[in-house]
Amino acid sequence: MAHISTGDMLRERVASGDQLGKAVAGIMQSGALVPDELVNQLVEDRIDQPDCANGFILDGYPRTVSQARLLTVLLAAKQIPAVVVHLKVDYNVIIARLAGRRQCPTCGALIGVSSSAPEVSEFCDRCGSTLVIRDDDRPEVVLERLNAYDRQTMPVLESLRSVGYPMWDVEGASRSPQAIAADIVELIEKFRAEQTNRNDRAQESGGA
Ligand code: AMP
Repeated sequence: MAHISTGDMLRERVASGDQLGKAVAGIMQSGALVPDELVNQLVEDRIDQPDCANGFILDGYPRTVSQARLLTVLLAAKQIPAVVVHLKVDYNVIIARLAGRRQCPTCGALIGVSSSAPEVSEFCDRCGSTLVIRDDDRPEVVLERLNAYDRQTMPVLESLRSVGYPMWDVEGASRSPQAIAADIVELIEKFRAEQTNRNDRAQESGGA
């Protein structure tokens, strides 16, 4: 599945220095959310790309109720089934993780210095570049990001639930990234099998 991270897409635009990048750089550095119309347009264009035809994972989107509404309309129009994965992590754990997080400026890899790769804390284990601390992983910015999550993103869960998307709460604080990923993959495979069965039944009854 294609991995679509709106944060990564926005950081790429900031690095490229184009008009959109210049418009959002300051907002991102403050930890606030960038305007819905900009992010919605990026996502709308991205999911039309060929690599999304077999499914995609939206990471960091939707983050507001207005984004969720647009996404719901887009998915319905394209008849794309979706599930919501809610990774539950205590705020203190998030703060500690972000404080230890580094990013590769070349390939974008994110590395938790304390957990996943203590032995390569300075260099990217994929491409060897020197790792950096993301501007918005500074503690004062992290607090603003958590505030934005509380105010603007928490209501998204209810909004998506009310549309009828299946919603999975996955405990993300105490287990390894591999264990969490394995749980999510298992849930997605189950969901896909159900969808296939449902389509087969619909075809059979349509053909009868
Ligand atoms: P992330 O990498 O997902 O933590 O996003 C980093 C920053 O990019 C956020 O703090 C926002 O400023 C911006 N951003 C990413 N995704 C969105 C979104 N869906 N809506 C608004 N702003 C976003």
